[in-house]
Amino acid sequence: MLEPNSFAYGRWIAPGNAAKTLYNPVNGAAFARAGGSTLDFGAMITHATQVGGPALRAMTFHQRAKMLKALAIHLDSRKEELYAINPLTGATRKDGGIDIDGGIITMMVIASKGRREMPDGHVYIDGDVEQVSRKGSFLAQHIAVPLQGVAVHINAFNFPVWGMLEKLAPSLLAGVPAIVKPATQTCFLTEACVRLIIESGILPDGALQLIIGVTGDLLDRMGPQDVVAFTGSADTAFKLRSNPNIMRNSTRFTAEQDSLNASILGPDAVAGTPEFDLFIKQAAAEMTTKAGQKCTAIRRMIVPEQQLDAVTEALAERLKKTTIGDPAGDARMGALVSAGQKADVLEKAAMIGTEAQQVLGGDAFDTPDGPGFLAPMLFRCADPDGAKNIHAIEAFGPVSTLLPYRDTAHAAELANRGQGSLVASLVTHDPAVARDVAVASAAWHGRLYITDRDSMGEATGHGSPLPHLVHGGPGRAGGGEELGGVRGVLHYMQRTAIQGGPDVLTAITGQWVPGSAEVTGPVHPFQRTFREIKIGETITTDPREVTLEDIEHFAHFTGDTFYAHMDDTAAKANPFFPGRVAHGYLLLSFAAGLFVQPDPGPVLANTGLNELSFQKPVSPGDKVHVRLTAKRKTQRTDDYGEVAWNVTLYNQDSEQVAQYELLTMVSYAR
Ligand code: NDP
Repeated sequence: MLEPNSFAYGRWIAPGNAAKTLYNPVNGAAFARAGGSTLDFGAMITHATQVGGPALRAMTFHQRAKMLKALAIHLDSRKEELYAINPLTGATRKDGGIDIDGGIITMMVIASKGRREMPDGHVYIDGDVEQVSRKGSFLAQHIAVPLQGVAVHINAFNFPVWGMLEKLAPSLLAGVPAIVKPATQTCFLTEACVRLIIESGILPDGALQLIIGVTGDLLDRMGPQDVVAFTGSADTAFKLRSNPNIMRNSTRFTAEQDSLNASILGPDAVAGTPEFDLFIKQAAAEMTTKAGQKCTAIRRMIVPEQQLDAVTEALAERLKKTTIGDPAGDARMGALVSAGQKADVLEKAAMIGTEAQQVLGGDAFDTPDGPGFLAPMLFRCADPDGAKNIHAIEAFGPVSTLLPYRDTAHAAELANRGQGSLVASLVTHDPAVARDVAVASAAWHGRLYITDRDSMGEATGHGSPLPHLVHGGPGRAGGGEELGGVRGVLHYMQRTAIQGGPDVLTAITGQWVPGSAEVTGPVHPFQRTFREIKIGETITTDPREVTLEDIEHFAHFTGDTFYAHMDDTAAKANPFFPGRVAHGYLLLSFAAGLFVQPDPGPVLANTGLNELSFQKPVSPGDKVHVRLTAKRKTQRTDDYGEVAWNVTLYNQDSEQVAQYELLTMVSYAR
């Protein structure tokens, strides 16, 4: 008998007398006891906020990203222990792959985004400096810092591993400790994963706690710095978000809940086209993967009315090939998570059946007897405009309904009748159809997935949320957002507008802001190691005259003989130029010639250039000089890091003629 433990205030806590018995959906045997123990939720919050939070916030974003990467590698090396108990959730190994490997990959991607897109510091810089004063002595900058409370993650039964890791990775990267509450039916798999995490010793104490069973008065204790992230049914979401304490404290509450996701077959995708076949394949996969218990699964298939018969026939044929059986074996489809879930799905399917005709069901399949097994159920609705239940009731299993549409506008209208979904897909080879549907429909869906014969080879799947992309949807889907790369991390942080002088902004953000103090180093900065270079370290070069011969030479050498550089009359006719002017690229080359120190040294390579702008033309006879300032430093490997330099070119009248950010890789050693 499995006995998943809670993990609170640094201790494992076994199930209590009131524990719930869990039954195997494949054979009905009792296999676990879960919950029923007494937890001190106040002490859990204290442990998170007094021990976990400070330890996480002492680390930089990069240190936390490295921690997540180490965790993902560790879980990957031990994942077979999770796959071993995965069939007890009713899921096949392939289904488990979405949950277990999917969760680990999500954590890995979030870690990598943290290293690449967040600073190696404690403050995230959100957007550019805002020039709120004329002379630049008073500026503004949005920053984001970790919330100082705890993140409570309440997860659904269908993804016990991914559901935890996709919330945990952004939360920990932000610097916020988490208390995870999995759905009781599949909590044993979450617990096994949490055990691997805790026993690895990779996380600081207090960063992760686990509740098996009920949450007691936890939500009544949520404060203004806490976050509740929920996945599950709309009813539970409504109940939890209505908690007076959560409303009073403006505790952040994000929900990802029931969603009547749609898939549209484009009007061009008639039988015989690759798009038609793709639609059928995708529709069947979405109905049967995880036995349809996926928050993103297709519940409504919206097809051209002329194609309805062909789609019904092709889809039914394909679905009939689905083998249903023991998820530990090689069946295509396993069981629903529990007998209770099966009863719930049948009840909801019956409500859908009042508005649609069932065209495929149990009699077409060889379905085992176990309590969780349920064959795919395909419905077809003749009156999608008059239907209500089909657009409102989510049967969370292998159930889907075909709906005919007249034209593209009607298809989008039907997709939107779900009142907000996590994802809608469209299979079309016509970009104009894609545009029409996107414009009419994007406001109603968190993700629009559009595919055709050209992209299908690499397309990631209607039902796969990606860590890079927003997961969540408006209205009925919960109104929340998760993931989306760094966006998902910001849900656990406070955005604050800092107003102050340039030195203040530089001190807070760790990034040099124009107008703040400049420092002169003992030698040229290109002779200084990554660690020696100081933010604000500046050199100003001697001037160099730009001659007509230089312009001529550059033009013929490179082949860039654009008239503004070569033909005085034509250049004068152009409102931007006083006559012949220097090439912008010539100025960049001269700038490098002015600021580079040529000897071998710690600077390893010039890796790029950002935000280049040419602000004033340079005429023959003008003299340019350069100011180079160390703006930002980012550790990249154990051997070298990236230094971003602010480069400004001036003319003889001290007017700015060009500006850019130069990126160099600089060694830690000389
Ligand atoms: P629930 O909403 O019942 O449960 C979701 C989570 O909330 C579980 O961890 C559950 O714990 C917890 N919970 C329930 N009541 C409370 C409470 N009063 N206080 C604190 N936590 C609570 O969803 P299920 O997972 O049971 O799924 C039910 C239905 O939800 C499905 O049939 C499906 O329609 C929908 N669903 C939608 C998903 C989506 O992402 N779109 C995902 C999964 C489900 P416990 O298990 O211990 O009750």
